[in-house]
Amino acid sequence: MKFSFEHKDFVEQNVEPNKIAVIGDDRSITWKEFNAEVDAFCNYLIENNYQKSAFPVIIYGHKQVEVIVSIYACIKLNIAYIPVDIVYPFQRIQAVKNIANVQLIINCTDQKLALEQTSEILFTSNKFELIQKAEFSKSSIDSIDPLVYLIFTSGSTGEPKGVQISTEAVLTFSKWMTSDFGFTKDDVFINVALFSFDLSVYELITFAALGATLLLNSKSTIDQPELFLQRIKENNGTVWVSTPSYSFVYSRMENSIISDTVKYFLFCGEMLPNVLAKSLKSNFKNTKIYNTYGPTEATVATTLVEITEDIINKYNPLPVGFPKPESKILIDEEEIVIVGKNVSLGYLNRPDLNQEKFSIFEGERSFKTGDNGYFQDGMLFCKGRNDDQVKLHGYRIELNEITSKIDEISYVVKSETIALRRNDEVKKIVSLIELTSDQDFNIKADIIEKLSNSIPHYMIPSDFKIIDKMPLNQNGKADKKALEAIYLSR
Ligand code: AMP
Repeated sequence: MKFSFEHKDFVEQNVEPNKIAVIGDDRSITWKEFNAEVDAFCNYLIENNYQKSAFPVIIYGHKQVEVIVSIYACIKLNIAYIPVDIVYPFQRIQAVKNIANVQLIINCTDQKLALEQTSEILFTSNKFELIQKAEFSKSSIDSIDPLVYLIFTSGSTGEPKGVQISTEAVLTFSKWMTSDFGFTKDDVFINVALFSFDLSVYELITFAALGATLLLNSKSTIDQPELFLQRIKENNGTVWVSTPSYSFVYSRMENSIISDTVKYFLFCGEMLPNVLAKSLKSNFKNTKIYNTYGPTEATVATTLVEITEDIINKYNPLPVGFPKPESKILIDEEEIVIVGKNVSLGYLNRPDLNQEKFSIFEGERSFKTGDNGYFQDGMLFCKGRNDDQVKLHGYRIELNEITSKIDEISYVVKSETIALRRNDEVKKIVSLIELTSDQDFNIKADIIEKLSNSIPHYMIPSDFKIIDKMPLNQNGKADKKALEAIYLSR
């Protein structure tokens, strides 16, 4: 049966027209203006035949209001979009374009991308202009459950992988957000994450579903804590959405100017340390703390728990919560498996990986997360990964993706990338490298330069060590324990 939906399922229709919908860096727009801008952009796409594309479009930008308008125009026209932040180097954008057969880029920056065989619309300062036109093959696909977006995450083979999220998955998520968290149309959602990460889907989908307000914050604002706090205060930001890592510096501030403004801390993406929850509780007495858990492959989050004083005192590590309605969590030989409509349709064009990670359980899609976990008192708890995926400063990284990029360098025989941990938390990523012969130039600088062309800055190891010979374990693979000892022994 075809899944049917309407645009109003995503966007609250009964909004106050003069209330602010989106607050950007350089301009803010009301709900009336937001709806008009979305419609104007939809009309432009239709006039140019970009309606109902069979292929996803890339929305390229940072925290511009135009990014949000583009996203909602795509949702309205049923065009799947791929959010790509300016943090991505050119080669990675090219890789995403090739994997997803992208034919149109909506560029919200003033820097032309000019990818081959791709049309490009420049959408800045609320004006759009077709700056590059390519042959466009029209859609013949009419999918049962159309995609809303694809988010590319780090892939262990050296290429990013595109997680396909369907309309039904997003609407299930939206329903949960508007019913179980206590948020209302009066809330102002504080955006921190880049739109290329699914954490940002929290505020992106919820503000529109409620007819509330979205507060965008550019990287330069976020990098200046005083300015960021001031901006939250001035705009009355009420829902803080971030990884726990990001809130550390704020958790210790006594009498923060936002302690009465922020009503909720909504966390996801990595372990919420008990000490962090404790200091937030003591410095933000009237703010609720939510811990949520879930991978991009299951549409942002699958479990939720409010971290109360009692929970902080009773559990360490803290629970990640109760499964949301319509989703099930199973534990299969320690591994967390998510079942439900929120599970992705799979990685785009990766049947090999899909077979390994996705399957059908009692008629519903299921995903093997790679996270180990257990249930206690009805709540899920996480206890680490069973593979080489790590989180560093909240960023999801496959160590093998870095290794394969270093191995492509002509003077490298073999490399291995390892994560160094303290108290189960990744503190640093380093690569150990065997060279073809002694080189007489600055290897570290050269590798960093090469890597920064192909992977985002947050994936670049903070240190490199040249080794004589790669230590191997009994299976003939790099011996990571030995490598860690070699690295630490210097
Ligand atoms: P991402 O796809 O970037 O959201 O990363 C998903 C991964 O982050 C999960 O598979 C977990 O390994 C980790 N993760 C997400 N939320 C939590 C949480 N609340 N506690 C512990 N780990 C988490």
